Amino acid sequence: MQGLMQHGALTLDKIIDHAAQWHGGREVVTRSVEGPIVRTTYAEIHNRAKRVSNLLLSLGIRPGDRVGTLAWNTARHIETWYGIMGVGAVCHTLNPRLFPEQIAWIADHGGDKLIFTDLTFLPIIAGIIPRLPNVEHVVVFTDRDHMPADFRLAGDAPHFKGLLCYEDLVAEQSADCVWGGFDEGTAAGLCYTSGTTGDPKGVMYSHRSNFLHTFITMQPDVMGLSQRDVILPVVPMFHANAWGVAFSAPATGAKIVMPGARMDGAAIHELLETEGVTFSAAVPTVWQMLLQHLESTGGTISTLKKVVIGGAACPESIIRAFHEKYGVEVVHAWGMTETSPVGTLSTMTDALEKLPYDQQMPYRLKQGRPPMGVELKLTDDDGNALPHDGKAFGHLKIRGPIIAAEYFRGAGGKILDADGFFDTGDVATIDEMGFMQITDRAKDVVKSGGEWISTIEIENIAVGHPKAALAAVIGVPHPKWDERPILLVKLKEGETATKEEFLDFLQGKIAKWWMPDDVVFVDEIPLGATGKIDKKVIRQRMKDYVLPTIAAAAAGTATLAAADGAGAPVLYAPDPVETPEDVAEAVEPVHEPEVLAAQAEAETVSAEALAASLPDPEPTPVAHIAEAAEPEDVFPHEPLVEAEAKPLEPTPETAFDAPPVFVAEEAPLAMPIQPSKGRKAKAAKTETSGKGGWASPILIGAVVIALVPAALIVVGALGARFGLLDKAIAYDLMTRDLAPLVAWLSLGTGALGVVVAMIGGVQRHWKRALLALAITIGTLAVLFLATGVGGR
Ligand code: ADP
Repeated sequence: MQGLMQHGALTLDKIIDHAAQWHGGREVVTRSVEGPIVRTTYAEIHNRAKRVSNLLLSLGIRPGDRVGTLAWNTARHIETWYGIMGVGAVCHTLNPRLFPEQIAWIADHGGDKLIFTDLTFLPIIAGIIPRLPNVEHVVVFTDRDHMPADFRLAGDAPHFKGLLCYEDLVAEQSADCVWGGFDEGTAAGLCYTSGTTGDPKGVMYSHRSNFLHTFITMQPDVMGLSQRDVILPVVPMFHANAWGVAFSAPATGAKIVMPGARMDGAAIHELLETEGVTFSAAVPTVWQMLLQHLESTGGTISTLKKVVIGGAACPESIIRAFHEKYGVEVVHAWGMTETSPVGTLSTMTDALEKLPYDQQMPYRLKQGRPPMGVELKLTDDDGNALPHDGKAFGHLKIRGPIIAAEYFRGAGGKILDADGFFDTGDVATIDEMGFMQITDRAKDVVKSGGEWISTIEIENIAVGHPKAALAAVIGVPHPKWDERPILLVKLKEGETATKEEFLDFLQGKIAKWWMPDDVVFVDEIPLGATGKIDKKVIRQRMKDYVLPTIAAAAAGTATLAAADGAGAPVLYAPDPVETPEDVAEAVEPVHEPEVLAAQAEAETVSAEALAASLPDPEPTPVAHIAEAAEPEDVFPHEPLVEAEAKPLEPTPETAFDAPPVFVAEEAPLAMPIQPSKGRKAKAAKTETSGKGGWASPILIGAVVIALVPAALIVVGALGARFGLLDKAIAYDLMTRDLAPLVAWLSLGTGALGVVVAMIGGVQRHWKRALLALAITIGTLAVLFLATGVGGR
């Protein structure tokens, strides 16, 4: 049976209709690309959006056609969105921060027929139009006075009919246009992932998915938007729909402030203060710039209440600075282009809200809990569900009506699992309270000795160092552990620092085996097209980087200090476990004992290769430097074999204090290492066939001869006693005649054994030589005693 309610397709035109009718006078403020602050209203935006629709229809755009926008956050951009979507065309947001070739590729792949752009991006347009045969027109968001007098394309484009002036066209069109009337599943927007982890892929939003996303974001525990808010979306409309704000602000009737082309600290601060902004949203790097600006100018924040920070992990330093210095609440959020984008938010629960702020911090740092409408699951590589214990790392998967079901034009093939969940490509944990924490992108995670190290966690702490402007961690190749993390730091303007300052800063805040193997100071940490640290570029730049220890080993100097150019390499000195908390931390994490097991396994496989590749052993840095002069000592055989008796025990001390990933490379002597089966066999072979191996059979013969008299006496005596042997044979021949004779002979072979042992290697053979001698002497002594007392 069907419900008897009106259906009312969830199409986006209804949002701006609502805003115009019920919040028509509410302001929309823009820092225009031309310069001045421009003010308009939702009613005006609605009116002009209708004109844009007519303009599109006049230019031949039909339902389903893709219309590109290469533009900043402005009122014109908002009205164009609604104008495009209202007639069933698809708004394709192009990201100007990509390289022109990428933009051209994306616009072409998207099948764009027309592009709206800002003056700022005309150089990009000039470059890409020759590669976009379907684009006949480009509409420039400006008035007649600002239209460029001279615009030339970078190549031939006979299909291109020229630039059009937005304000002229809008003025010419009628505001009478019918919107909607199509199915709510109709495509509304197209946005390509920025390709951080591969080729860009198109995510095609529907009217329904964006409508539902709008409802979701407005909830108090999500963005908590209200008509009384003044919203500044710094996050660009080309970055996952400005996280939905261009829909949710008009839906609530909130005033909206659009930053245009300027997102520097000074410009954002000015808008916050002059427009009375209460809510904002952006990636962490934007807030970092604002906070640095406030710090250097002594500026204050007077109206801002809440900022949603996402797109990349939000460091504690930002959350604290906002809270402690400016009284602003930070809500850390996670999402992606494929999730519309809001997936989770670290809004405090009732129970957490009652805790002191410092105790809330671990939860505020996590990416948080999903709102109603978003389902999450955590699985291992085989798709098995992992526990929500805050420790088990796994693949984060997501499902719901605001999540992509497939990419445009089928890129990437099937993207949902059997249960309809999309694999986000993120690695995460979920704790008992339901707070999800991203530990890495699956492709960025550092895999050290078979275990995962979260680069995000290390970065977040490192960037909290007072001298750090930006920090990034990447994995670099390591012959033993596959990869080890290194920390790249961009210092704040005018600062200087040493590696040790940063390593000391990390001490005690991360597991010791997560400690970066090196700190590299850089002038620039590249940011991707969505303002996130671009690890693909960093990895490319660091492709020739070699860890100092490995370089030193290769150069034969094998001193970390020399290779590092640093002073005492404190980072390699294992610290004692100091507190019970340390011990608890050491035992608690699920992966620590597993790491030990994994390391032992890794050792078993690669011990021989290591012997050749590793630098000098060094139990401590001081010993390391002292011993470095004697390269012959590198990885001697004996400790490898001895180590068999001391298998790795995941005791709290070893688990925490001597994590193999961390210590073993520098102190292989201190590390019990399991020899491989092949190695054991080889060792045994060396024992018998190596230098002096001929002495062993002679000595074994000497021992056997030494035992013969005793055997003759025992056999003779027992044979006579039990009547098994004739007395003449048993006693006269065996015991009295032969035994002493053989005993004297064995004294000779025993003495010969000593000589043989000395030639064949006293260290290896002394035991057998002495044994033969001792038995012979003992036998002779017994014989003398027996003869002396005259007994039989
Ligand atoms: P792209 O995939 O093109 O980089 P997205 O904006 O879709 O662009 O990026 C989504 C990814 O950004 C997520 O999968 C996740 O790895 C990362 N991300 C988003 N928000 C956060 C966050 N709060 N903390 C850590 N990573 C985040």
